[in-house]
Amino acid sequence: MKELQKTSKISGFYKLPMKERIDYVKKFSNLTDDEISVFSSTMDLEIADRMIENVIGTFELPLAVAVNFHINKKDYIIPMATEESSVVAAASNAAKIARIRGGFTTEVSEPQMIGQLQLLNVSDVAGAAKKILDHKKQLLDLANQQDKILVDLGGGARDLEVRILDSPLGKMIVTHIIVDVRDAMGANAVNTMCEALAPMMEELTDGKIRLKILSNLADKRLVRAKAVFDKEKMGGEKVVDAFLESYTLASIDPYRAATHNKGIMNGIDAVIIATGNDFRAIESGAHAYAARDGRYTSLTKYHKDKDGNLVGEIELPLAIGIVGGAANIHPKARLCRKILGIVTAKELSEVVASLGLAQNFAAVFALSTVGIQKGHMSLHSKNIAVMAGAQGEEIEKVADKLVKEGKVKLDRAKEILEEIR
Ligand code: NAD
Repeated sequence: MKELQKTSKISGFYKLPMKERIDYVKKFSNLTDDEISVFSSTMDLEIADRMIENVIGTFELPLAVAVNFHINKKDYIIPMATEESSVVAAASNAAKIARIRGGFTTEVSEPQMIGQLQLLNVSDVAGAAKKILDHKKQLLDLANQQDKILVDLGGGARDLEVRILDSPLGKMIVTHIIVDVRDAMGANAVNTMCEALAPMMEELTDGKIRLKILSNLADKRLVRAKAVFDKEKMGGEKVVDAFLESYTLASIDPYRAATHNKGIMNGIDAVIIATGNDFRAIESGAHAYAARDGRYTSLTKYHKDKDGNLVGEIELPLAIGIVGGAANIHPKARLCRKILGIVTAKELSEVVASLGLAQNFAAVFALSTVGIQKGHMSLHSKNIAVMAGAQGEEIEKVADKLVKEGKVKLDRAKEILEEIR
């Protein structure tokens, strides 16, 4: 292998033998031999047993890296854990096109999470709401006493908002506590604060606190990523127009938007899992945000710039951390952060949003041109070949024939296997 430069732009990375891919990532991210060996080992069962209940083993997913990413003028190799074929290749290809015009740029809001306290059975709703707001400082102080570490790091409870909601149970007061969680995902931190505030809220009012928990609609923790996709590289302005026609359906129709956003989450979940974050939290936040105006729509937006290039943007909430949860307990998650070279949750969220945009661009691009199956079929055909009983070199031979014939079906794979044998 030639002398390596610290660039994530690597042509034909997928064609390299796995050993050379590993060597590249090792050098790019300054990993030691011991660290590299962690990726091919399974998690210590004792660690697993401390993470969840009733453990009987561990469950593996392939871990790959997406290449070519250039985000805010820095190169990234992005680790992705996923079972779905084509996702990593598609992301790498989209990043390659995006880098022609400077790669991805991002904007991130403060890492603020929302905790909810639901107050019921209040006789004077307006009076109780006023009392809560009048005691904002005392309530925030009490919240901050729960997490001295967070406060020392510059985070902590920042604000209270009071909402009065009509419900089948009558009016209820829902108080939002806004907490800057710094580099944590923040659920435990916020939940602890919510529980600590409950008795004081009941004392201040004559109501009863029922729920006290984080909201996964983290709309005060938004990330935006943007990229320009070169029209020539896409195949000309007609392809850009075809792309925009495809995208338009996602912008107006929830049936299409759900699939469009699923494509975004193909990439996002994969890096979220690889970095030990909570993908259910990210999923629920993203989809709730996509429906924030009362109608579910696309998390991305596209338009043409004055030169005819395609401009893509994504905006979504990303409640992710680099401390807490499994982020530091899972040995591979720690190393995936090292591959990324990120040191803050903010930077991780910039990478995640950019990957989501790349993934979405790749899917809509394929759908607007050759269709999605072409890319899917080459890896899928290998799975079908294995299912048909192919072994060793047979796998490639059967898979190739399936793709050439354009019929990736198990019965045909079995026939080809018999012919070969
Ligand atoms: P945590 O409580 O394990 O860690 C966060 C704590 O680490 C902070 O409260 C702070 O005291 C400390 N800390 C040290 N260095 C820090 C830094 N640089 N920035 C911020 N905090 C720092 O984890 P968490 O992030 O509060 O909670 C995440 C976990 O909660 C995840 O595992 C998630 O699955 C789980 N969870 C999620 C939900 C939900 O999404 N609705 C609900 C409950 C639990």
